[in-house]
Amino acid sequence: MTLRFGVIGTGAIGREHIKRISNKLAGGKIVAVTDVNQASAQDAVKSFELDAVVYPNDLALLAADNVDAVLVTSWGPAHEASVLAAIEAGKFVFVEKPLATTAEGCMRIVEAEMKHGKRLVQVGFMRRYDSGYVQLKEAIKNNFIGEPLMIRAAHRNPEVGENYTTDMAIHDTLIHEIDVLHWLVNDDYQTVQVAYPKKSKHAHENLKDPQIVTLETKGGIVITAEINVNCKYGYDIQCEVIGEEGIVSLPEFQSISFRKNAMFGTHVLMDWKDRFIDAYDKELQDFMDSIKKTGEPNGPTSWDGYIAQVTADAAIKAQDSGEKETITLQEKPVFYSKPTEAVNA
Ligand code: NAP
Repeated sequence: MTLRFGVIGTGAIGREHIKRISNKLAGGKIVAVTDVNQASAQDAVKSFELDAVVYPNDLALLAADNVDAVLVTSWGPAHEASVLAAIEAGKFVFVEKPLATTAEGCMRIVEAEMKHGKRLVQVGFMRRYDSGYVQLKEAIKNNFIGEPLMIRAAHRNPEVGENYTTDMAIHDTLIHEIDVLHWLVNDDYQTVQVAYPKKSKHAHENLKDPQIVTLETKGGIVITAEINVNCKYGYDIQCEVIGEEGIVSLPEFQSISFRKNAMFGTHVLMDWKDRFIDAYDKELQDFMDSIKKTGEPNGPTSWDGYIAQVTADAAIKAQDSGEKETITLQEKPVFYSKPTEAVNA
C-alpha cells in the first residue's frame, strides 16, 4: 500500500520532505500540494516533477479523496488550523514543530485527536530518530551509567540572521533539546531558569546570545543547555549524560581526521540539515511504516508537542524574569501512555 501525501507548505523543509518521500524512502507518494504562496506550490510540482494537484488552500487539499496523510510544513502559526482540519477529515498528519504556537492550541489538538479515537498525528521531533540519541537512550535504559544525575547539552549554530530574536532561541532552537532530553531520561520537567553569559560580539544588537537554560526534572535531574547561535565554527550538537556509575556522550559527527600544516583535526558540519539527515529520513519512514503496520503513527505524539510548548512558554517567561519558573503540565491522558520508541532508528 502506498501512502498518498498532501503537502501543506512548500518552503524549505516542505521541499526537503517532498524530495525524500519521492526519491529516497519507500511506500509514499506526493499527490497534492498547497502553499499560501501558490507560485511556490506550482514550482515545487515542476521542480520535483510531481504527479500532484496544486490546491488553493489546506481545506481544499484535505477534501481530496486520494489524500491519505498530510505533511504540515507551513510556518508555525498556521499549523494548528491545518492539523485540526486534518483530524476532522480523518487524515494522518506529520506536522513539523511547533504542533501549535500556544499550549491551549496544542490541547485543542490533543482533545480533537482523542475524540477521533485513535492516533493520527506525529510531530517532527526528529532527534528521537538520530542514532546517537538512540544509543544514549539505550545506555540509560540498560542502566549502563546507573541513575542519570545531570545532563550537559549544547546547541550551537555558526550564525543567525537579523530576524532571529532572543525568544527564538527557545521556540526554534532549544525546542529540540526540550523534546529529546525528557524523552532520553523518561522524566518530566519541573522548573526552568535562563541566564545570560557575556554577550557575543557576533550577536546583533537586539539578540541576547549565548544563553544558558537550566531545566530540572521531577526526578531531580539537572540539565544545563547552552544555546549559542553565533558560535562561528560550525553546527554543533553536544549532549553528555552524567550518571551515578559513569558518563555517556553523543558521538561526534563521523568524518575523516587530517594531519596538515602542523595540525591534527577533523571536520565540523556547518548546516543543520546535514547533521540530522538520517533522522529526517527515519522519522518519515517510521511514520509510513507504522501507519501501514498498526493503523497509527508511532513517533512523537500530540502530547509531546504539548509538553514542548508548555516548557518553551515557561522558558520564555524565565528569559524575562530571570527567576526559576515552574513548568505545569496537565495530567497525561491514558490515550498517550503507550511509550513511543524510534523503532527504525
Ligand atoms: P519556510 O521556508 O518559510 O516555509 C514555510 C512555507 O509555508 C512558505 O512557503 C510559506 O509561504 C508557507 N506558508 C505560510 N503560511 C502558510 C499557510 N497559512 N498555509 C500554507 N502555507 C503557508 O519555513 P521552513 O524552514 O520550511 O519551516 C517550516 C516549518 O518547519 C516551521 O514550523 C519550522 O519551525 C519547521 N522546521 C523544522 C525543522 C526541524 O528540524 N524539524 C527544520 C526547519 C523548519 P511564504 O513564503 O509565502 O510565507
